Amino acid sequence: MKKQETTFKGSCEHSNLTELLYLGQLENEEEKKLAQLHLQQCPVCKRTFSELEQQYRFIEKEIQKPVTNKTLDLAKEVGSKDTKYGLLICEPVESAKTNKKAAPYKAKVLFTANGAGNTKNKKLADFNLKSLPEDSIAIRAMTDKKCNKLLLYLWSPQNEDFDGWELKISGEAKAVFNLSGMSQIPLMEIEDLNGKVIYFKERQTAFASGNRFTNIKSSITTL
Ligand SMILES: [Zn+2]
Repeated sequence: MKKQETTFKGSCEHSNLTELLYLGQLENEEEKKLAQLHLQQCPVCKRTFSELEQQYRFIEKEIQKPVTNKTLDLAKEVGSKDTKYGLLICEPVESAKTNKKAAPYKAKVLFTANGAGNTKNKKLADFNLKSLPEDSIAIRAMTDKKCNKLLLYLWSPQNEDFDGWELKISGEAKAVFNLSGMSQIPLMEIEDLNGKVIYFKERQTAFASGNRFTNIKSSITTL
């Protein structure tokens, strides 16, 4: 049976306001009230609102996912010729000092490209992150010479949420990660991280209240 779709297409000059309302960006109380009032009685904006809901739910889910090796391979391909990238595996080390806050890991460089890699693999995608030991953490590193940074992308077999994670390389650098496990430290040779002890600290407190807009913004503006 043919389904009769009533596609209601219309436009409303206030749809922009509705989006701002949705994102929690209306700071003026009066403006907010007016936008809410308008939303209650405007079918166009009601539809816009529920569409936004779907869109942002999707975007939020996507940007919170750790970056895949394939994506990084692609970024390397399209990046400048002197872009160097690699994979490090960090495994926990027994520590005499019990530090409740940060756990020590030892880093091992498994692969670099445009560098002195020690495997035959040519791409990150040749490595199956899912086969990593449960308690290890992988760091994909990529140089950004323009900004003098080394970009870091975390991956761990048991975690998908790296928001607020911290990494510290004794005497060298400190980084705080965003939702998708991305952060940066001052530019250094990836190989120089080989054998280094790296401290990881998970975010202690619950997710800070923030509206969708700031959450999304914070995950895309780290670079
Ligand atoms: Zn409207």
